[in-house]
Amino acid sequence: MKTIGLIGGMSWESTLLYYRLINQAVKHRLGGLHSARLLLHSVDFADIEPLQRAGDWDAAGAQLSMAAQGLERAGADVLLICANTMHKVAPAIEAAVTIPLLHVVDATAHVVRQAGFGKVGLLGTRFTMEQGFYVERLQQQGLDVLLPDADDRAMIHRVIYEELCQGRLLDSSRDDYRRVMAALVDRGAQAIVLGCTEIPLLVEDRDAAVPLFDTTRVHAEAAVAWALAAE
Ligand code: GLU
Repeated sequence: MKTIGLIGGMSWESTLLYYRLINQAVKHRLGGLHSARLLLHSVDFADIEPLQRAGDWDAAGAQLSMAAQGLERAGADVLLICANTMHKVAPAIEAAVTIPLLHVVDATAHVVRQAGFGKVGLLGTRFTMEQGFYVERLQQQGLDVLLPDADDRAMIHRVIYEELCQGRLLDSSRDDYRRVMAALVDRGAQAIVLGCTEIPLLVEDRDAAVPLFDTTRVHAEAAVAWALAAE
């Protein structure tokens, strides 16, 4: 089994999900007392979030690149950024290390296409929904992407930072997310990509009329498939 390096803490609420999902997938594949070989560098998100807000992606990328280098030195064979948004700085991280980075968009596009869907709705932070790094990469892999309207994008973003990343799960916000997903389905979405690693804390399959692709789970399972590929 290879060693998985996690860049986490963005937020720690979803890094917990990664830790559980990765270990569950290893146990499912290998059984018994098996658990994942992994290393975690968990940042203080209060250092990172202001850089996102200020658009200082170079500084954020530099911090995560140092984390990535530390994980490589400590023996990681592969890297995961445990957040969709921070894939904005994936190129900087890839340039800073010699080990591969498993990109969340590639893992997600692969399973969506395998399931036979071509048109998806996307929920995530405003950065993820509005800046090209995410949507264009999905499109390059053959997917049509529908986004919520501007007011709903602002609501989804606010709920992620003010509630989900702080462990607050509100029924009223779940209702708002349900409404947004239903509107995307009305516009032709065949599936919804939960493009933020905290969203699966709030919504589950029964909250939408089409399949949901939970990027936290997809990413974690892709990492385990990679780590065990040589077995
Ligand atoms: N975990 C989130 C994501 O998947 C949001 C927090 C962040 O901006 O890193 O995008």
